[in-house]
Amino acid sequence: MKTIRNLVALFVLCLASALAAQQKSLDAAQLQLALRKLNVLGSALYVAAHPDDENTALIAYLSNERLLRTGYLSMNRGDGGQNLLGNEKGELLGLIRTQELLAARRIDGGEQFFTRALDFGFSKNPQETMAIWGHDTILADVVWTIRRFQPDVIITRFPTTGEGGHGHHTASAILAVEAFKTAGDATKFPEQLKYVTTWQPKRLFFNRFSFGPQAIKPDDPSVAKSLHLDLGTFNPLLGRAYSEIAAEGRSMHKSQGFGAAERRGSILNYFDLLDGPPAKADLFEGIDQSWSRYAGGELAGKILQQASDSFDPKAPAKTLPLLLQAWEAMDRVGARPEWAPNVNPWIEVKRRDLAEAIRGCAGISIDVAAGDSAVVPGGEIPVSVTVLNRSDYPFILQTVASRYANPSKGVGRKLENNQPIKTDLTIKVPEDLPTSQPYWLRNPATKGTFVVADQQLIGLAENPPSIPLVVSLDDNQMHTILFTVPAVFRWTDAVLGERVRNLEVVPAVTANLGAHVYFFPEAQPKNVTVSLKNFGATDPVTVRLLVPSDWKIDPISVPVTFTAKGEEKRLMFAVTPPLKGESTGAITAEVELKSGKKLHEGVTNIDYPHIPAQRVFDGGGSKLIRVDVKKRGTHIGYVMGSGDEVPEALRQVGYDVTLLTDTDLERADLGKYDAVVTGVRAYNTRQILKTTNAKLLDYVKAGGTLVVQYSSTSPQPMLIPAPGPYPFKVTSDRVTVEEAPVTLLKPDHALFNVPNKIVSKDFDGWVQERGLYFTNAWDPQYETVMATNDPGEESKPGGELFARYGKGVYIYTSYAWFRQLPAGVPGAYKLFVNLVSAR
Ligand SMILES: [Zn+2]
Repeated sequence: MKTIRNLVALFVLCLASALAAQQKSLDAAQLQLALRKLNVLGSALYVAAHPDDENTALIAYLSNERLLRTGYLSMNRGDGGQNLLGNEKGELLGLIRTQELLAARRIDGGEQFFTRALDFGFSKNPQETMAIWGHDTILADVVWTIRRFQPDVIITRFPTTGEGGHGHHTASAILAVEAFKTAGDATKFPEQLKYVTTWQPKRLFFNRFSFGPQAIKPDDPSVAKSLHLDLGTFNPLLGRAYSEIAAEGRSMHKSQGFGAAERRGSILNYFDLLDGPPAKADLFEGIDQSWSRYAGGELAGKILQQASDSFDPKAPAKTLPLLLQAWEAMDRVGARPEWAPNVNPWIEVKRRDLAEAIRGCAGISIDVAAGDSAVVPGGEIPVSVTVLNRSDYPFILQTVASRYANPSKGVGRKLENNQPIKTDLTIKVPEDLPTSQPYWLRNPATKGTFVVADQQLIGLAENPPSIPLVVSLDDNQMHTILFTVPAVFRWTDAVLGERVRNLEVVPAVTANLGAHVYFFPEAQPKNVTVSLKNFGATDPVTVRLLVPSDWKIDPISVPVTFTAKGEEKRLMFAVTPPLKGESTGAITAEVELKSGKKLHEGVTNIDYPHIPAQRVFDGGGSKLIRVDVKKRGTHIGYVMGSGDEVPEALRQVGYDVTLLTDTDLERADLGKYDAVVTGVRAYNTRQILKTTNAKLLDYVKAGGTLVVQYSSTSPQPMLIPAPGPYPFKVTSDRVTVEEAPVTLLKPDHALFNVPNKIVSKDFDGWVQERGLYFTNAWDPQYETVMATNDPGEESKPGGELFARYGKGVYIYTSYAWFRQLPAGVPGAYKLFVNLVSAR
């Protein structure tokens, strides 16, 4: 029976696992597990707030031991966190952490979802979180994900009562409780019902904390009413316990430095029922998880059981006839369980999994190779599709198709055992196809949420591939199996071996400005560089800078002709601020194509070995700031920590900044620097500071100025707990409200007067937070100069410590300069310049 009518649905559904799937087939043990899983129609959704909040061991257990479809819904993408890998922050960090979650899910077998909520930084309570996110918007997204995923059971990581600490954590639990009650109610968010039906999950649980040495014992009275699962269970097919798989998955959170040790032995987790009917022994009690759950499902279930029982790991292809029968039987499954009319969530999911099982049992490889990693709207790119059947099962390669290519020739051929068939297509990309910009970054975000126009994209972890291809195979029984695979580009890295990235749709020419902020401390012109990259312009283009009308640009425009794809060029423009007064505005590079189309996008390439490489386009341009800032000194030595953009900001105000290497710290004469600054988390990441901190203090003693920015006390302690000349104690205290009032405790102090006079408006317009990892105790030889606090909390003077030591000055500062300076907050520039100017 032909199943072409499923083609459209499969187009959408097969995409999630496609990139991973085309790289390798399942081995015999994974196949055995996959065949068993085909017979389980149950699901669970885990709900928490951030990437890395999830209980990876539980996801691995539910997915591989209970064989359930298991999802993790993270409220946000971790945009507000710190990055231990590089200097990406904000939305770029969110993208890295999204990919780290997907990498973890490839290991534990779960699926990944998000709401539109932004990680706006640490929040001390759920009320603030909900106010910034917009309670109704995020509740709608949780409901949407439940209606689309249709979980039997929902499990929250955090309690609703606040013990989870972070306001995002508590909010995630509160939203799960509300959504559990709401998702089944057709009067709630009825606009979603165009695409999905209502769904009432059966039970809602809170997953109690029991990790760590103080694990809860089963006879502990506090868990007398809880259900439990043993996440230390060993899976003989995988040769690993779920706790071991979890450690591997958690170690994917490399931007957080969450490499985890593998734990072995029994690890009990406890679950408290929050809603739904009571259960005596198991979370899924009374929920039919067999094919009988759907009218007409028994036959598919019976065949799949037989397939699983008779599977021979030495000859997986023997299972193919049963699997193809099951493919046909799935057509007969009715879609009418009484509690969910008109919908059967499982058919398409199980078809996707069954197609993968068929591919695995036949050893079928489908390799889709594009000639490049990028193509422009209106452009063309060659794609080769190589299909290989490594069984004697008589598959016929029926079609190799893309909605953007003419039908392929040379198909309709039998796939002989181990004889590849290669089909070449030319993809013609429509002029109006959007770029591969991650969907949640296509519009400017509000303070608390991403703005997504297409309801059906909401919740997805990443974009569906821009250029999917469909490969269909027939057998001699008239079954048609469809595979949807994204076009990818492969290249070889000398160290990492073969690497793969999705073929992306990119603008014809990208233009990157040399800096995010151009700071003019005086009314002097500055040079602005524009780096162009040609992805597909063949005719000459015109490049210009757009600035506010009272600023001047020279030259007005520059004609550019590219001779090759991939060519890069650098242009230089002189930008002059208005002669008088302060002024701020935006500066944007514009590339006008011969067609008259104007492009305003810069490109950022994100490429780390543990996640797929990808491009992000920004259209926001950079900031121009003309504010008088006086400085003292010229040369600054900077000890970069986990990565920040403070050196660039110092250069913008006219400093000559040298990034100090380990060798510099050991051997160089620091006396040539007017100030030395340590970067964010330098005392977490720069091991060399353990042995060279004494040298930094000697530099201060001899008359130098040392400014130490915050380092964190968790997850790892600082390399030196109090690196100053006198003791102080760093805590995890923060002030998260960026508008929190700041009191100058010593308004006459040099830090507020020399060389720049600080006024209250210099604390306006701050972003994300005031500061983090404040000290709460210090030696009396330190002076505290300013204090701030979140609403309802006591004043915190420990955010900045100032001490004279020998002939020099030592400053420890927890204020979030690393966020304010790249965001172009003028007052922060004055305050920070005063720090490095202190004598
Ligand atoms: Zn968290």
